[in-house]
Amino acid sequence: MSIRLHNTKTRSVEPFEPIEDGKVGLYTCGPTVWNYAHIGNLRTYVFEDVLRRTLEYHGYDIKHVMNVTDVGHLTGDGDDGEDKMIKGARETGQTVWEIAQHYTDSFFNDTDQLNILRPHVICKATDHIEDMIGLIQKLDERGFVYESAGNLFFDTTKFERYGEFARLDRQSLKLGARIAVDEEKKNPADFALWFTRSKYEHHIMVWDSPWGKGYPGWHIECSAMSMKYLGDRFDIHCGGVDHIPVHHTNEIAQSEGATGKAWVNYWLHGEFLLTEKKKMAKSDGNFLTLAGIIDMDYEPLDYRYFCLGAHYRTQLQFSADAMNSARAARKGIVDRIIRLREKADPSPHETVTGKAEVYLSRFKEVLSTDLNAPKGLAELWSLIKDETVSDDDKLTVAFEMDKIFGLGLYSSTTVPRSLDDPLLRLISLREEARERRDYSRADDLREELKKRGIIVEDTPEGTRWQREK
Ligand code: AMP
Ligand code: ZN
Repeated sequence: MSIRLHNTKTRSVEPFEPIEDGKVGLYTCGPTVWNYAHIGNLRTYVFEDVLRRTLEYHGYDIKHVMNVTDVGHLTGDGDDGEDKMIKGARETGQTVWEIAQHYTDSFFNDTDQLNILRPHVICKATDHIEDMIGLIQKLDERGFVYESAGNLFFDTTKFERYGEFARLDRQSLKLGARIAVDEEKKNPADFALWFTRSKYEHHIMVWDSPWGKGYPGWHIECSAMSMKYLGDRFDIHCGGVDHIPVHHTNEIAQSEGATGKAWVNYWLHGEFLLTEKKKMAKSDGNFLTLAGIIDMDYEPLDYRYFCLGAHYRTQLQFSADAMNSARAARKGIVDRIIRLREKADPSPHETVTGKAEVYLSRFKEVLSTDLNAPKGLAELWSLIKDETVSDDDKLTVAFEMDKIFGLGLYSSTTVPRSLDDPLLRLISLREEARERRDYSRADDLREELKKRGIIVEDTPEGTRWQREK
């Protein structure tokens, strides 16, 4: 069975064909580590994990590379903004290096808890300054670079195909309709490759370069590091949809500008997680982390389940209701797996037949068709509810499916920590009362829950609850 993936380059679902038989070079843009990852970021890493697991399931030998942005990308997609790392250092009394390390550790702690497989190569921007300088020199030799007011810029008018990928219109790029015009740049879409003249005083992270002491622009790190570890051409590059118009557009200009060759074959982008119809963003300050989710009495894998419930190319609205359903559904699956384990042989079989085989092959089909995890979950549910499938086969197929879902079913021996059912029932009765606008009933139920040690809070995303500390 072949894998089909939606390629942003062509805006269509295409059969996946690797450059080298049986092998896949995969690059996923990593975190900026001046703050905690929010659950929107984590949604993107869950989608990339499903991609990697699907490819592995099909027997591909993957080399997965991810960067850690610990310098250069300060805030937003532009090259401007306040240096968050320095601000953080001033506020906390830590060094910028300590801050970067703290958030990097926290990021991998989050991804581990979400069963996201670690990349084979994790490369920090600050360890690859030489590679970035080398790439800028190549671009300079090929006439793409100019210097202005002490900083080096990529001249986007020199790269014929600039903006094609994101379907940006050249005319509006020229007029600066989309991107604020910066006096230092010749063209509004041009972007910084190297800063020698920082906009901020006391910039601590600086390195020697042929152009003087300074630090790199953000986009250059992904071009330099992906090519270093995966070669001048590789198979798949991923990120969130926000990266299409600026970051990935600029990465393509740099990489293809430097080599003169086509660079990445397949580009995959995950849609946003939204709160109140708005994209969750680090620079907004108002965002939820995985630790916040745990405080709300969810487990990290409830969040993974929640993400799997929506196709990666659709926007996903975060709400307490949706998380409660995800938690209940995951608990339902784990409960059943535990009961099956008691009755059936928990070691997976070599083969399954009949209906079990049908569920498995449908599951493979939907996951191989642009990673349709929600349809895959529906197959898992049909399987475990089907009385005509033997317990042994159910376990075997559920474990097989979980190689891609990553819900830890094989190792699950305890029911997820969760509130006991009578309490969940009170909470849902209260939600129903609120929906009916029966606020006095809702208040009574709030009191009742409080007596039982549960604090409920009504937020724009719905009702949240937690155990009283
Ligand atoms: P950052 O650490 O901000 O560079 O983002 C890390 C990854 O998360 C990138 O691939 C972004 O495209 C992605 N991302 C940022 N915001 C969201 C969001 N609200 N929902 C889903 N993915 C996001
Ligand atoms: Zn990147």
